[in-house]
Amino acid sequence: MYRSHTCGELRRENAGQEVVLSGWVQRIRQMGGMVFLELRDRYGLTQLAFNDGWDQDLLEQARQLGREWVVQVWGAVLIRESANPQLPTGEIEIKVSQLKVLSRAKTPPFTIERDTDGGEEQRLVFRYLDLRRPDMRDNLLLRSRVDQLVREYLNEEGFLNIETPYLIKSTPEGARDFVVPSRTNPGQFYALPQSPQTFKQLLMVAGYDRYYQIVRCFRDEDLRADRQPEFTQIDCEMSFVDREAVMRTFEGLTRHLLQKVAGWEGGTFPVMTYQEALAQYGTDKPDIRFDMRLHTLDALAKDRGFAVFDRAETVVGLAVPGAADYSRKQLDALSKWVQRPQIGAGGLIWCKVQEEGQFKSSVDKFFDAAALAQWAVQCGAKSGDLILVLAGDRSKTLKAAGELRLHLAAEMGLRDPRVFAPLWVVDFPLLEWDEESGRYHAMHHPFTAPKEEDLHLLKDYPEKARANAYDLVLNGNEIGGGSIRIHERDLQQRVFQALGFSDEEAKRQFGFLLQAFEYGAPPHGGIAFGFDRLVALLGGSESIRPFIPFPKNNAGRDLMLNAPADLDEEQLRELSLALALKAKD
Ligand code: ASP
Repeated sequence: MYRSHTCGELRRENAGQEVVLSGWVQRIRQMGGMVFLELRDRYGLTQLAFNDGWDQDLLEQARQLGREWVVQVWGAVLIRESANPQLPTGEIEIKVSQLKVLSRAKTPPFTIERDTDGGEEQRLVFRYLDLRRPDMRDNLLLRSRVDQLVREYLNEEGFLNIETPYLIKSTPEGARDFVVPSRTNPGQFYALPQSPQTFKQLLMVAGYDRYYQIVRCFRDEDLRADRQPEFTQIDCEMSFVDREAVMRTFEGLTRHLLQKVAGWEGGTFPVMTYQEALAQYGTDKPDIRFDMRLHTLDALAKDRGFAVFDRAETVVGLAVPGAADYSRKQLDALSKWVQRPQIGAGGLIWCKVQEEGQFKSSVDKFFDAAALAQWAVQCGAKSGDLILVLAGDRSKTLKAAGELRLHLAAEMGLRDPRVFAPLWVVDFPLLEWDEESGRYHAMHHPFTAPKEEDLHLLKDYPEKARANAYDLVLNGNEIGGGSIRIHERDLQQRVFQALGFSDEEAKRQFGFLLQAFEYGAPPHGGIAFGFDRLVALLGGSESIRPFIPFPKNNAGRDLMLNAPADLDEEQLRELSLALALKAKD
């Protein structure tokens, strides 16, 4: 028997018991004729005590141990003279009577502690050591718990857990596919799924009614910080539902998680249209933990002789509460901040709302107190507030103002990761124009149904049609997105046409789905949650990597395995890669 208890388990009540523990040596402290050792496992830490008065040889043995050695000990549980209130096992220690080394360890390249001295890269190379640290352990425990809670809720709601294949043919979710050459079909390739989208729809056609899967997805996207080429989704689909039914079900799931994990007690999630979100927050994933909404000042600011505003397509303002006392230096810093290339605003206009009826602004020459008072009303600014104004091209200006809003909130400490503010964003455009390829792209994916009342727009004004789609947003992050799907072949074909697919192309890529729709497809819809992001947010983090057991770095590499890697010539030949290229010549 390696152990009778774990290292996190023993309490005052166990005093006097003979126990066996196994674990890693966390710390060794020598004090005169005593050695104290902390033994660690996934469950916690327990103090082991050795005393030369008890057993001289054993004490010598303990002195020879090193950090991270794996040992097994036998001993009696004693009440500690001075308890450690920081540790759940802090009231007891083990008076060791026998010790066995199970495994020696080299000194680890960084400390196995919450605040480690290891750099990001080293920690990825030695991920198994990094995962020993208590914060990483907490992250993985949380991940497993959220996984359990999701399954619990969905099983209860009658969802079936059904697997879908990884070796498939391309599914368009807007990214490039990872491909896998087929050795046995020379010159041909599988693609790894960007999501199980078409499969889950086919499961609805097959009559399974409610499907879910916590599933890995693969997208070969350009590298960006905190993006993983493989990531996990909670993927779901339901039959005979409208948008509201899907939203209700997954609002329920989200509430279940927020309640169980964070003790959240909020009400019904607000629902906002895409247009409202853009106009009021400058983004389709608003952070509504704080207000500071954007307001248009077009009617109040344009045609007053101030060229910057007159030239602009739109003028947008927001009120920063209690910031009327910002110094020149602070205002200059904000102005510089919005002019950074990533934000790209031309400049920043400010107006301080002082005592009743008094204003001070950077545009006093053009706007008198009466005009500025109107800005204040429009922005909901009270005395003591600061109004910040951006002007220019509509979409860029809203976006920049939205970024400024987040920047200010972060500076003001309004983005508390322990506060959760979920909402739905609906009525996205069905399509968006892509300058590069000179054609429309599906904003969500090509299987998303247009809103019924917008169907007539498809042919001549496709960009005006709205999608029957919804995103779930949490603290400024999109955590889930889905839609009611098209379930009729004709409509699917019309949408493919709007997307610039020839009938040939559509048939070649999605013939199986179009055909399935001819054999009795139920109305259906679904959603997928980004599991990594969801867990990270529940864990109070904006970054997903600490919540993924074995992640890739920002360059898409696994530093522990050193992948991707070369193949040897033999293997390359077997895969007939040259043949595949030749066939295209
Ligand atoms: N397949 C979609 C995605 O990966 C989600 C969905 O529409 O259900 O974003």
